[in-house]
Amino acid sequence: MMESLEPKALAILGAIPPELWLPGALGIAALFAFLFFKTWSTLRRERRAVADLVQRSQEMEKELIAIRAAAQTREFRIERFDLIWYPTVTYLPHSKRIVSIVPGAPHCRSCFAALSLKGEFWSCPSCGRQSPGSLGDLMVMDAITKETLKHFQERMRGYDLAPGILKA
Ligand SMILES: [Zn+2]
Repeated sequence: MMESLEPKALAILGAIPPELWLPGALGIAALFAFLFFKTWSTLRRERRAVADLVQRSQEMEKELIAIRAAAQTREFRIERFDLIWYPTVTYLPHSKRIVSIVPGAPHCRSCFAALSLKGEFWSCPSCGRQSPGSLGDLMVMDAITKETLKHFQERMRGYDLAPGILKA
């Protein structure tokens, strides 16, 4: 095979007039240089884009940490359905946004202990008083959340819910 290829290659070279060898070689070298430069500049552009993305995400992370650090929490006391709730509201004073409202667990009205769900009932670990388990339902939680929001907005004027927070 090799023996038959070499004469063929020589025949191809022989077909190109010697005065075109140098321009041909230069042309091929220029083509390689162009391809190399194109790949290199694409790589450099991509690397810069990645570096920009990394920098932007680092800046966003710093902002997020600052926002979280600035968040404040306020606790409320709500008496409803013959029980007591201590919901908490987390808010951002600089943007006047409420970021979360957590109703928390119901508490006993007589001894203020947090009730625990035992089977179908909420039970007080201190006095043993029982309340219906339905008091942990979403509808009850929603009612507590809405009342908490009302109390909060009465005390803290101009605050609104952050996007994605349950609308009252
Ligand atoms: Zn109790």
